[in-house]
Amino acid sequence: MVDTEERDLVARQLDELHAKYRTWGQDQVVSYYPEDAPEDERHHFGLAGTNVDGTQWRSGDCSVKFPLHSVSKVFTYGLALEDNGAAETLRRVGVEPSGDPFNSITFDEAHHRPHNPMINAGALVAANLVAGKDVDEKVDRILERYRVYSGNPELAVDQRILRAQLRSNDRNLGLCYIMRSLGMITGDIDEVVETYLSACSITVTAADLSVMGATLANGGVNPLTGERAIGREHVRDVISVMMTCGMYDAAGQWANEVGIPAKSGVSGDIVFVLPRYFGFGVYSPGLDVHGNSVRGVGLCRELSETFGLHVFADPADSPFGRVAQPAPTP
Ligand code: GLN
Repeated sequence: MVDTEERDLVARQLDELHAKYRTWGQDQVVSYYPEDAPEDERHHFGLAGTNVDGTQWRSGDCSVKFPLHSVSKVFTYGLALEDNGAAETLRRVGVEPSGDPFNSITFDEAHHRPHNPMINAGALVAANLVAGKDVDEKVDRILERYRVYSGNPELAVDQRILRAQLRSNDRNLGLCYIMRSLGMITGDIDEVVETYLSACSITVTAADLSVMGATLANGGVNPLTGERAIGREHVRDVISVMMTCGMYDAAGQWANEVGIPAKSGVSGDIVFVLPRYFGFGVYSPGLDVHGNSVRGVGLCRELSETFGLHVFADPADSPFGRVAQPAPTP
C-alpha cells in the first residue's frame, strides 16, 4: 500500500525525471511515425504510473491519444493464449528473442514458427489465433478485452490510422503470404492483417496504458475496476515474453540496463510492468534506430536506476527488496 507521503514523494521524483527528459534526446531521434506528423505532435511526452493498489501518477501529456502499435502485441498474445491454450499457442509461435528488427522476414525454422509474438511475424500469427468467425468478431473481442485491461470503455480503433496502415502494408502482407505458404497461418490473409493492424490502431493515453500494465502486474485483474482481463495462468507467459523480446533487437540491452518487462511500439509508446507492484505507460514519438522511443528509453533507464527497479538487482539497492509486500490475491 502506498501512503500519501510516499505517493507525493514519488510524484515529485517522476515530475523531475519527466522535466529532465523533456529536453533530452532529440538529437538522437532517427525517425517519427508517421513521418509527416505535425511538429507540435512530435513534442508530446507523457509518463503515467498505476500501482496495484490503485494509486496513480501522471507527468506531462497523459491525456493525449496515440495508437498502441506494437504494444498491442502483448495483449493480443494474451488473448491467443486464452483462446488456444499455452501448448497450442507455443506450437504456433515461439518465445525466443530473434535479435532481428521487428518487421524482419525470419522464422524459427527448426520449430516451423515465428520466433516470438512481440515481432510482426509472431504477432500476425497471434492475430490469426484469436477466436472469431470473421475479422469483425475478432476485432470486437480484442477491443472488448483491451477495454477491460484499461478500464476505459471508450477505447476504439482509429479508422484513419487503420486505413493509412492498410495502404502501406506490403511487408506485413509479404510476411503473411510466406507464412501461409509454410503452413504457419491459415485462412484469409487480408483478414489476418486487418485484425493485427486494427489492434495496432486502437488509441489510448499514457494513463490508459499504465492501467493496462498494472492489470498485468496485478495478476490479470484491473486494479481500478476489479475486472479480470486475462486468466491468471497466462499472465506469467505474457510478462516473460515481454522481458525477453519486448524491445525488439534492443531487448538484451534493455534487460541489462533497465531490467523490467516492457513492450514498445513505433508511435513512441512503452508499457512496462513490475509484477506485484505497478505498470507504467510512456509516450514520446521520436524513435531510435530500433524503433523505440528515445526519451522513453532514457527515462525508463533512469527510473529503474533511481527507484532500484531492476528485477535482478541486489535487493540492498532496491526499496522493494527491503519492503516485504504481500502478493496480490486476485
Ligand atoms: N503497426 C506497425 C506495423 O505493423 C507496428 C510496428 C511497431 O510498432 N513496431 O508495422
